[in-house]
Amino acid sequence: MWGYPEPVSRMIEQFMKLPGIGPKTAARLAFHVMGMDQKDVDEFAKALKDIKTKLTECAICCNITETSPCSICADPRRDKLVICVVGEPRDVVAMERTHEYNGTYHVLHGAISPMEGIGPQDIRIKELVTRIGQEDIDEVILATNPNVEGEATAMYISRLLKPFSLKITRIAHGLPVGGDLEYADEVTLAKALEGRRTL
Ligand SMILES: [Zn+2]
Repeated sequence: MWGYPEPVSRMIEQFMKLPGIGPKTAARLAFHVMGMDQKDVDEFAKALKDIKTKLTECAICCNITETSPCSICADPRRDKLVICVVGEPRDVVAMERTHEYNGTYHVLHGAISPMEGIGPQDIRIKELVTRIGQEDIDEVILATNPNVEGEATAMYISRLLKPFSLKITRIAHGLPVGGDLEYADEVTLAKALEGRRTL
């Protein structure tokens, strides 16, 4: 590819698999890696391998973790009666940064998107329903992203959970519409959580 030696073009191809990386940036990164110390390259390669082999999904909340149950589910100080439902593991990090939430989470790993062919069965909704059927839960906070997919997912889950006797709430607007939870600042996110409304 592009007249580069084979290992270089192979590295470029790999970088191009990453989101937002075009051929020019990929080539720049490949040459940068070539100039790195052997030790740093080895660490880089190991980190790439470990992110798949050393991580698993928590059997309770589906968040990514090194050990299952994850540290949040295993923490006796967390309020096990409240579940905050989020789209991605990154959103758990965003919520934790607010220091305003002491319940547990459920990570869906995506959102319902008919446009992209992602249905309820493609994300961890079944796991949530099973969990609610087995545990004592008082409140489910739907904290999916404030965009079309996030709203559709929240609506779907709220309908699905109606038969259970629990409070279903949706985090307040005030979050930038169309935005991602993970990019909201701590204060905005904490306010959205505080102002959640019952569905
Ligand atoms: Zn967990």
